[in-house]
Amino acid sequence: MKTAIITGISGQDGAYLSRLLLGKGYRVIGLVRSSSGSDYYRLRYLGVYEKIKFLECDLCDLSQVIHIITSFAPDEIYNLAAQSSVSLSFNQPIGTIEFNIHSVLNILEAIRISGKDIRLYQASSSEMFGKVQDLPIRETTAVHPLSPYAISKVTGHYICMNYRESYNLYACSGILFNHESYLRGEGFFVKKLIRGALDIKHGQREQIEFGNIDIRRDFGWSEKYVEAMWLLLQQKVPEDYLICSGKSVSLREIVNYVFDKLGISKDRMTINQSLFRPTEIEDIYGSTEKARRDLGWHYDLPFFAVIDNILAEEEKNYSFD
Ligand code: NAP
Repeated sequence: MKTAIITGISGQDGAYLSRLLLGKGYRVIGLVRSSSGSDYYRLRYLGVYEKIKFLECDLCDLSQVIHIITSFAPDEIYNLAAQSSVSLSFNQPIGTIEFNIHSVLNILEAIRISGKDIRLYQASSSEMFGKVQDLPIRETTAVHPLSPYAISKVTGHYICMNYRESYNLYACSGILFNHESYLRGEGFFVKKLIRGALDIKHGQREQIEFGNIDIRRDFGWSEKYVEAMWLLLQQKVPEDYLICSGKSVSLREIVNYVFDKLGISKDRMTINQSLFRPTEIEDIYGSTEKARRDLGWHYDLPFFAVIDNILAEEEKNYSFD
C-alpha cells in the first residue's frame, strides 16, 4: 500500500485529493496546524474524514517536518498548505510570504536529509505570471508576480525546481489556474457570488458587493484538477505542468449568468472601488498542450457547466441559519 502525506488537507483541493487517493488504495496522512480552526467539514462532506490519519505539524519547524517525514517515509507528499488568498496577502504580506516559502523549503530539506525516495508535488499558481505579455501562458512563459501571494508562490516554485536540479529529487510543481467547487473557501469570488445570489433569491439579503469584475480568468473544476496532481507524481521524469482550461471568462459574465439563472436583477450588485486590488491581472489563460500530451490529462468542461454544478449543490444544501 502506498502512503501519501497531504498538507493543507482541510482545504478544497486537500479534500478532493484525499478522496481520490483513498479511492486508489493509498494510506493518507494529513498534516494539520495545531492552531487550525477547521472542523474538517470538507473531508466530512466527502465522507473521508474517518479514513485519514491526522498529525499536527508546524511546517515552519524543520525538526518536526524531518521527524514526520523520516518516521512515516511516505511515497508521495502533496504540499497544498498555503495562505491561498491573493486579496488577504495584500493585508498580510509578511505572514503570507513567510509561511508559503518556509514550508516548501522545510519539506524539501527534510526529504533531502531523509535520503528516501519521496516524490513531492508543490502547489504553484497561475498568479505567478501576473503582468501578462503574451497569451496563452505556457510552461516557458516568464513570471512577473503582482501580489505578495504570487511572490511567495514564485519563490516556492523555484525552490522546488532548484532541489530537483541540485539533488535530483522527484519534486515538481503543478501550476494551477483558478479552480472552483462547492467546497471552495467562502471569501473566493465564485463561492461568494453563488452564496450571495442565493441569499438574495431567498430574501436573506438585499445586495452583493464586488471589486473589479471586468477582469478575466481561466477557471476550472477542482475535482478534475486534483487528478492532474496525482498524474504529475506518476511520470518517469519530474517536470512542471500548467493545469488549466485553456480559456478565460470575465467575472461580469459569470455574475450575469448566475443572476439570470436565479432571476435576480443586476441592480442587486454594487461595485465597490475599495475592494479593487492595488495591482491586478487583466486577462489570463493557459495552454493545456503539455499536460494533454505528457500526462494524458484532458479538460473540456465549459465553466458555465461548472457553475451549474456548484449552484445545484449550493441550492441542495442551502440553509436559512
Ligand atoms: P484552501 O482551500 O485555501 O486551503 C488552504 C489550506 O492551507 C488549508 O488546509 C489551510 O489549513 C492550510 N493553511 C493555510 N495557512 C496555513 C498555515 N500557516 N499552516 C498550516 N496550514 C495552513 O486552498 P485550495 O484552494 O485547496 O488550494 C490548495 C493549494 O493550491 C494552495 O497552496 C493554493 O495556494 C494553491 N492554488 C489554488 C488555486 C485555486 O484556484 N484553488 C489555484 C492555484 C494554486 P487551515 O484549515 O488550518 O486554515
